[in-house]
Amino acid sequence: MGSKIEDILAAARSHTDEVIKPDVDAWNAAGVWPRAASDKAADLGLTGLYAPEEWGGQGLSLGDGIQVYEELGKGDGAYAFALSMHNICTFAACGYGTEAFKNAWARDLTSGKKLANFALTEPQSGSDAANMYTRAVVNDDGTWTINGAKAWVSLAGEADVYFTVVKTSDEPGHKDMSMIAIPADAKGVSFGPRYDTPSYEFLPLSEMYLDNVVVSEDNIILPIGQGLQGSLMAIDIARVSIASGCCGLMEAALDTALSYAKNRKMFKGVNLDLDGIQWMLGDVATELEASRLLYKAAANALGTPEGPVMAAHAKRFVPDAAVKAANTCTQVMGGMGLLQPYGMDRLSRLSQMLRIVDGTTEISRVVIGRALQKRAEGLPDIPVPKGYGEK
Ligand SMILES: Cc1cc2nc3c(=O)[nH]c(=O)nc-3n(C[C@H](O)[C@H](O)[C@H](O)COP(=O)(O)OP(=O)(O)OC[C@H]3O[C@@H](n4cnc5c(N)ncnc54)[C@H](O)[C@@H]3O)c2cc1C
Repeated sequence: MGSKIEDILAAARSHTDEVIKPDVDAWNAAGVWPRAASDKAADLGLTGLYAPEEWGGQGLSLGDGIQVYEELGKGDGAYAFALSMHNICTFAACGYGTEAFKNAWARDLTSGKKLANFALTEPQSGSDAANMYTRAVVNDDGTWTINGAKAWVSLAGEADVYFTVVKTSDEPGHKDMSMIAIPADAKGVSFGPRYDTPSYEFLPLSEMYLDNVVVSEDNIILPIGQGLQGSLMAIDIARVSIASGCCGLMEAALDTALSYAKNRKMFKGVNLDLDGIQWMLGDVATELEASRLLYKAAANALGTPEGPVMAAHAKRFVPDAAVKAANTCTQVMGGMGLLQPYGMDRLSRLSQMLRIVDGTTEISRVVIGRALQKRAEGLPDIPVPKGYGEK
């Protein structure tokens, strides 16, 4: 037996080899969330990674637990993403939830009996998250009534509870924002038509409508005033998790290309003998190594003042590297790379999706740019050479 994290990573690896890889094409063809598979992941402890042991979790640090998505990402990046969001919500529930909420939900979430997801995005507000319309009104008896519509809700209709970010007034900005856990079976919760997403059709995505939904104050995860800041902390964890999943995706693309190129006969040798091919795959291997170092450094920085900018570096660099890797590996395989059984097309579409979800590449650049402005403030002015621009 290894250390706890070694055992969990080994379990995630076997889940990928035995459950995800053999069945992911069938999941996509069926277009249904593979609950039997996520139940198996739950049995391995993969649904309570960061939650404390007293609530049935694994008690892993973020730095350790985030590596799980690299293993799952070798099988499928969308599956890894959905489990990462569940784990983040479960972590938030155990860390910030009321005692009543924890007593009602924590063990079901860590054991994966119930699944959770996060609902921030709205049809008119993605990157500009503060421009949300969903409103919660605090009633005299302490309950909250929520009205609005969320967009791009992952595990829509499949998750049992949605950690939903709301505004509590019409004031512009984020000072009135909160996060409240809305059970899927609360009266007034419904879902729109499913989005058509062929490369990850098994992940249900749709809008979620909230029509006079009344929820107990026990379900407040982040009180008024902390909704946006808390969500951004959650999103930082999600960004690094995505970078981790992308490393798995890059390894899957590289190994598929290597397996093909070592046997593809051409010019009295094989494809992999060609310098040009070795250089192309060599660049993928270098970017994979760099990506691994970056996401692990970012994971260890979470919770420190450097966390947000490190998460932005990882989310900026790694999904871009994954897009390049998937395309390069497809190119190495020639026409064969375009055929369905090899899965390269799926990897290309998934890597592009991972550039967008949980803050786009451009939003990461915005975060990095702001950090650079701050850094510049602390630097000495550069003296202008004497006489320069005086006339
Ligand atoms: C598969 C998938 C699953 C998702 N699951 C969830 C979920 O479970 N819960 C949830 O809340 N959300 C979810 N999302 C939503 C996701 O987080 C948003 O799609 C993302 O934040 C981008 O928002 P948008 O799509 O509205 O793009 P927009 O905000 O409309 O952006 C459009 C373009 O403008 C660019 N842009 C934006 N701001 C700037 C800027 N300042 N400078 C330069 N360019 C800029 C963007 O990078 C992008 O290229 C999911 C998305 C996907 C694709």
